[in-house]
Amino acid sequence: MAETKSTCCYCGVGCGVVIEHEAGRITSVKGDPDHPANFGRLCTKGATLHLSAAPETLATRALYPEQRASRDEPLQRVSWDTALDTAAEKFAAIIKEHGPDAVAIYGAGQLLTEDYYVFNKLMKGLIGSNNLDTNSRLCMSSAVAGYKLSLGADAPPCSYEDIAHTKALFITGSNTAFAHPIAFRRVEDARKANPDMKLVVIDPRRTDTAEAADLHLALLPGTDIALYNAMLHVMLWEGWINRDYVEAHTEGFDALKKIVREYSPAMAATICGLDKKAIEQAAQLFATSPATMSMYCQGLNQFSFGTHNNSALINLHLATGQIGKPGAGPFSLTGQPNAMGGREVGGLANLLSAHRDMANPAHRAEVAALWGIDSVPEAPGKSAVELFQALKSGEVKAVWIACTNPAQSMPDQTLIDEALKTAEFVIVQEAFGHTETCRYADLLLPASTWGEKDGTVTNSERAISRVRSAVPAPGEARHDWAIVVDFARRLGAHLGKRELAARMFPYASPEEIWNEHRESTRGRDLDITGLSYALLENTGPQQWPFPEGAGHGKVRLYEDGLFPTPSGRARFVVTEHRITAESPSARYPLHLNTGRLRDQWHGMSRTGLVARLYSHEAEPLLHMHKDDMERRKLGDGDLVKVKSKRGSVVVKAQQSTSLRPGQCFLPMHWGGNAMGGLGINVLLPGDFDPYSKQPELKHAAVQVEKYSAGKSLVAMRRSEADADGKLQPNPHEVMARLRQWLPRFPYASLTLAGRSAPVVVLKARGDDLAPELIEALDRDLSLDDPTQVLSYQDSRRDIAKRARVDGDSLSAVRLAGETKAAEWLADLMVQGHSATAVRPWLLAPLTQPPAGQSARGKVICNCFDVAEDEIVEAFRAGESLDGLQARTRCGTNCGSCVPELKRLRQSVNH
Ligand code: SF4
Repeated sequence: MAETKSTCCYCGVGCGVVIEHEAGRITSVKGDPDHPANFGRLCTKGATLHLSAAPETLATRALYPEQRASRDEPLQRVSWDTALDTAAEKFAAIIKEHGPDAVAIYGAGQLLTEDYYVFNKLMKGLIGSNNLDTNSRLCMSSAVAGYKLSLGADAPPCSYEDIAHTKALFITGSNTAFAHPIAFRRVEDARKANPDMKLVVIDPRRTDTAEAADLHLALLPGTDIALYNAMLHVMLWEGWINRDYVEAHTEGFDALKKIVREYSPAMAATICGLDKKAIEQAAQLFATSPATMSMYCQGLNQFSFGTHNNSALINLHLATGQIGKPGAGPFSLTGQPNAMGGREVGGLANLLSAHRDMANPAHRAEVAALWGIDSVPEAPGKSAVELFQALKSGEVKAVWIACTNPAQSMPDQTLIDEALKTAEFVIVQEAFGHTETCRYADLLLPASTWGEKDGTVTNSERAISRVRSAVPAPGEARHDWAIVVDFARRLGAHLGKRELAARMFPYASPEEIWNEHRESTRGRDLDITGLSYALLENTGPQQWPFPEGAGHGKVRLYEDGLFPTPSGRARFVVTEHRITAESPSARYPLHLNTGRLRDQWHGMSRTGLVARLYSHEAEPLLHMHKDDMERRKLGDGDLVKVKSKRGSVVVKAQQSTSLRPGQCFLPMHWGGNAMGGLGINVLLPGDFDPYSKQPELKHAAVQVEKYSAGKSLVAMRRSEADADGKLQPNPHEVMARLRQWLPRFPYASLTLAGRSAPVVVLKARGDDLAPELIEALDRDLSLDDPTQVLSYQDSRRDIAKRARVDGDSLSAVRLAGETKAAEWLADLMVQGHSATAVRPWLLAPLTQPPAGQSARGKVICNCFDVAEDEIVEAFRAGESLDGLQARTRCGTNCGSCVPELKRLRQSVNH
C-alpha cells in the first residue's frame, strides 16, 4: 500500500487528498491534513473519489484512440500514430483552405495548468487563431470581467482564512453548503468561534445555505443589481460610506451616486420582491460591520449582465472600504478545480498568458516574444456560445473538444446538437468514453484523468497545488499535455512549420511546461517566479503572487489600497438593473432556476459512476411551490413537461418549501446520457453578457404542465461482488446497454442505487413499448430465459412483468405497462433483503411493500448510510441532534449533511 498526495478534481475549493493505492489500483482516499484548503476534511464527492476509479469503472473509460470512417459508422480502434496523423492532416487541410480561424479548441477548467498552457500555445501560437475557449466561460468569466472592470485585474482579493476573520458574511448567488461544502464547513466553524458573526444569504431559493442565515433575502432571479444599488442608496442616505477610503483609493463614485439615487429601498423592494426593511437591514450589516466579506458564484455570474452583477457587489465593498483587510472583500468561488489556472495561462478566447489581454498590442508582442514567434493574432477568438454558433453556420469547420462535455453542459442544447452534427470534423479528447459529447466524435483520443495525471491546479484563493499521479493511465490513454505536444509537432510538419513546432513544443514533462508558464508571469500581477515544483513539493500549496525572492505568497490583496489600474485606484462601475434574457410571460409563466446538488458534480461523468452519490437525489426533480403544484393538480412524483422557448424535458415534480410561488428549480447535472431528450440544459438560453460573453445558464422562463401520456416501464438489475471481489454483472456495462433506449422515451431516468451491491434502475414512460424493445431489455437484464424468471403477462391490458431471484436475492426486475411496485422492489434490491418472504407479491400491483418490508427514503448521510425516514422518526421521538449523531454517527464525518440534519430537526420541531 502506498500513499500519494494530490488535489480533489471536483470544485474550486481545491481540497488536498491522500490517495491510497496498491498494485496500480486506487483503493481509498482521505483528506490531506496538511492542505490549507481543507486540513483533512472532504465532502461526500471528494470522499468517494476512489469509488469513481474502482475497477468496474474501467468499462466507462476511453482506452484506445478510435476513429470513424463516416458519421454513420461506429468508432473503430486505431493506433495513436493513425489518430494523430489524421487529426493533423484534417486540421492542416482546413487551415490551408479556409484559414486558421476555421478550426477551434474547446477546453475545460478541469484541465491542469500545464495542459491549458500547451493548448493555448498551440492555438494562439502555432495555428495562429484565438479560437480557443473553455467551459470556464460558462462558469467564471463574469467574475473575471467584474474583477478587471472594478479592480483592474482578475485576482480574488481574499483567502479562505478570511472567513474566520469576517464579522459579516454575505453569500450571494451560491448554495455554498452544497456546491462548496468544505468552504461552508469553515463558515460553520467561524460562526461557532464567533457567535456574533452575521450570515446574510441572497438567493431566490431557501437553500440549506440560506436556512443557516441570520438574514435571507429571497430576491427574484436576476434582480441583484437593483438590490446592491438600493443598499448603496441606504448607505449614502445614512452616512455609512467610508469617505476616506473612497477619496484615497477609488474613482468614479460621483457617476454611480447619481444613478443609485433612483434606487430607493422601496423601488428595489418592488423590483426584487423583497421587504424594504430587509434591504435596509442588509445595507446596515454590510456597511457597519468591522469586516464584511462576500462569497459568490454562478448566481451572479450566469446572467446576461453577470459582469455588472459582480461590479455592483464590488461597488459596495469599495464604498465602505470593506476590502484589503482581514475578513473583508469580494471573494468569487470557482466552480471548477482549475478555472483559475486556466485564466492564469490565458485559456480563454480573449486572454493571453499571465493575465494578458488579447486586445492589448503590447501584451500580444510580449507573448510573441516569449513564444519565439512573429506575432499572435489580434482578432479575438470565438467564445463558447459563439464557437458553437460558428460550427453550426459552417464558419468554423473543425473543433477539438478536450476534457469537457458541451453536449451536456452548454445552454441551448438543440444548437449544440446541430452544431456538432454539422461540423466537418470533431475531435473529442476524453478520459470517459461514455459522455454525451463522445457520441459526436469523429476521432476519440483517450486521456488520463485524476489519480493518473501530474501537474498543478489553482483554487479559488489563488493557491497553487500539485496534482500527482498515483497509478498509471489505463489502456493507451495519454496525458492531455503529451497529446497536444505530439499533435503540434505533426501539425507543424503539415503546415510547413516543422522546426518552429519542434522549437515551440520541446517539452518532455509537465514541469518543463510549468517552468515556461512561470517565466511568463514575471512582473505580472500573478508573478510566481519565486515558486517551483520542488518548493510546492516541500512546502505544500502556495498562493500567488509569489515573486522571486519572496518567502511566501500573498494571503490578501490590495492591503495598501493600490489597485492595478492605470491610476492605481479601484473603479466604481455604473450598474443599472436590467431585465433578464427571459422574463416570465403568460406563455412561460414560471422562473426556472438551475443549480447543483450536494452529491453530484457537473455533468456526472465521474460522480455518476458512484451508486451512493445518487441516494440523496436519484433523478432530476422539478422542485415547485405547493401553490403552483395545486394549480396544475400535481402531486409529488407526477410527471411534468417543462417547456421553454428552446425545448422541453419531462421530469418528476416535487413540492419544495425552498421556493416562492412562481418559481421552480431543476438540478443542472443531467444530460441525455441519464434522462430522455437532450438534458436539462436544452431549456436554458444562450444569451450572453456583452463583457464576459458568459451565457445566462442559470435562468429561463418556462411553462409546466402535467404529463401522463404513454405507458410506464421500469427495469432494474442488481450487481454483487463475486469470489474475486468483481461486481457481476458490471453495473456500468448494464448502464451502457440500457442507455441506448433513452432516446425512445419522452421521460426516462437511468440511475444507480445502493452501495456495495449497486442496482441499475431505468424508469421510462412513452408509447413505444414494442415487443422487440421488451425482448431486448430482457436480454440486457438477464431476464430472457423463461425457465429462470417469474413472469406475468396480461396482453389485453398491455401489462408484462418479469422478475428473477438468484439465491435469496431479487436480482432483476422488468415491469411494463404497470409499475406500482417499482419503489419498494428497488428498495428490496438495494437493501439486499430476502426475496423469498415476498416472492408471491413480486409481480403484484402493490404500491406499498407487504408487511415487514419498509422503504427508507432518501439517504441524508452518505458516509454512514443514514436515511431521512430514520432521522425524522428519531426527531419525532424526541431524540436530540447530538443523541442522533452519537447513535448513528450521521454528519460526523464529512459534515456535508449537517445543514440538512438541522433543517429536518427544525421542520419536525415546527
Ligand atoms: Fe472536492 Fe468537496 Fe473539497 Fe470541493 S469541497 S474540492 S468537491 S472535497
